Amino acid sequence: MKLGNATLDQLPQGISGPTYDRSVLTPGIVHIGLGNFHRGHQAWYLHRLMQDGLAHDWAIVGAGVRAGDEAQRNRLAAQDYLTTLIELDPAGRSAEVIGSMIDFVPVQEGNAPLIAQMADPAIRIVALTVTEGGYYIDPVTNGFDADHPDIQHDAANPDSPHTAFGAMIAALKQRRDAGTGPFTGLSCDNLQGNGAILRQTVVSLARMSDPALADWIDANCTFPNSMVDCIVPATGPKELDIVRMMGIDDAAPVTHENFRQWVIEDEFCAGRPDWDKVGATFSDNVHAYESMKIRILNGGHQVISNPGEILGVEFISGCMANPLIGPFFRKLATEEITPHVNPVPGMAPADYVDLIDRRFSNPEIVDTVRRVAFDGSSRHTGFLLPTLRDALNAGTPIDGLALAEALWARMCEGTREDGTIIAPNDPIWDSLNSAAKAAKTDPAAWLAQRDLYGDLAENATFVAAFSHWLNLIWSDGTEAALTAYLNG
Ligand code: NAD
Repeated sequence: MKLGNATLDQLPQGISGPTYDRSVLTPGIVHIGLGNFHRGHQAWYLHRLMQDGLAHDWAIVGAGVRAGDEAQRNRLAAQDYLTTLIELDPAGRSAEVIGSMIDFVPVQEGNAPLIAQMADPAIRIVALTVTEGGYYIDPVTNGFDADHPDIQHDAANPDSPHTAFGAMIAALKQRRDAGTGPFTGLSCDNLQGNGAILRQTVVSLARMSDPALADWIDANCTFPNSMVDCIVPATGPKELDIVRMMGIDDAAPVTHENFRQWVIEDEFCAGRPDWDKVGATFSDNVHAYESMKIRILNGGHQVISNPGEILGVEFISGCMANPLIGPFFRKLATEEITPHVNPVPGMAPADYVDLIDRRFSNPEIVDTVRRVAFDGSSRHTGFLLPTLRDALNAGTPIDGLALAEALWARMCEGTREDGTIIAPNDPIWDSLNSAAKAAKTDPAAWLAQRDLYGDLAENATFVAAFSHWLNLIWSDGTEAALTAYLNG
């Protein structure tokens, strides 16, 4: 059955579709970066509200600023912007068709259609999922990267910008001049402080061509921080087969795990849907939720993927099923990470460890160890070392955290224990690889990477624990080291 408005009443048994009249929906949100995640997460929350008879004036208009987004537009337009969502529950898959998106702006060089759409006063929120790397942040200073060629282009050509941010600025200029007011900029990318980063990028870019407009945007627009969470794999032949086997011909289905979380600052300058009525949380303390997620989920991903790679385990669920790696995560997270995580309303850190344990263990989610272990130089420093520092300051145990660093150092040597090669998997792989080789006989050589470890290289407690584990891994193997930690 070809998915579309005309066939919604013929959905296969057990698959629900919109119960609302899609022809009366009106737009309220432009979403830039119409990949899979948006449809599995934010578009689902809106669909749930619409099913309850609410938010019918908040429908989504999709958009993209990259030439490749036109193909997505064509796929979705051919099926009236409907999406089949397939939930990957270990107890069995289920599916539903969501209808909260009603249009997709033509993708054009210079972005005139997108600017016109965002200048429409009906649009009150412009949301984005343009990836963590899409915000023009200088990796060294964390500040705005004004020298980037895209930014230079947009500063020189504010009426025909390349970037999403340049297009937002051009639309806001029209709105200011017409007196139709600002919109909220809502980043849904996986960045800590994503709203503050979006504000920095938009306001800094505007300042390069029109300082008065930059001041107006800074004073009138809001950019709420938000924490988003749901594992949404990419769609490939396997996912297309799954939806076909369910009896639906959908060219762009989305699979997702059976868990979603969305915590948002309630800072919307032009109104918002009541997403909290369908499970989202409005909070002044997004940072605490982010911190819990980053230390346990993202940190935990590093803890399991490094030994997984060394031992040749392919998927994250396989790591959790391994008799040593799954227990390594549980012991380390419970004894060494949770003392440095604050509870959030409704969730104690220990309960969050149980939740992450279940999510990582879901065999339906095909998440590769290689993907999760990528870019350890950003992820160990961002997700694990802050906990290690807190633990050293507080005098709480660090043995497992030191072992996690030693396993990373072992992995970066570039071979698995079966002798096969680990392909480079970090933007600074070459320097990690030479430090890892030197550390085989001199563990301090790994910690001497000052840009990663800083003064931790001089902390006697950490240096002793790290050296002990790395020497043991090289002499007796990874399984022996994990066993020693679990029995310790
Ligand atoms: P995707 O690859 O399916 O889609 C990415 C979209 O962003 C595409 O439309 C692409 O054209 C656009 N894009 C990429 N780089 C861009 C840039 N520099 N400027 C403008 N547009 C750009 O990816 P996805 O699964 O939808 O994930 C997108 C983002 O959502 C992630 O980077 C992450 O920040 C967030 N997220 C994803 C997941 C997940 O499990 N997939 C979970 C939490 C958060």
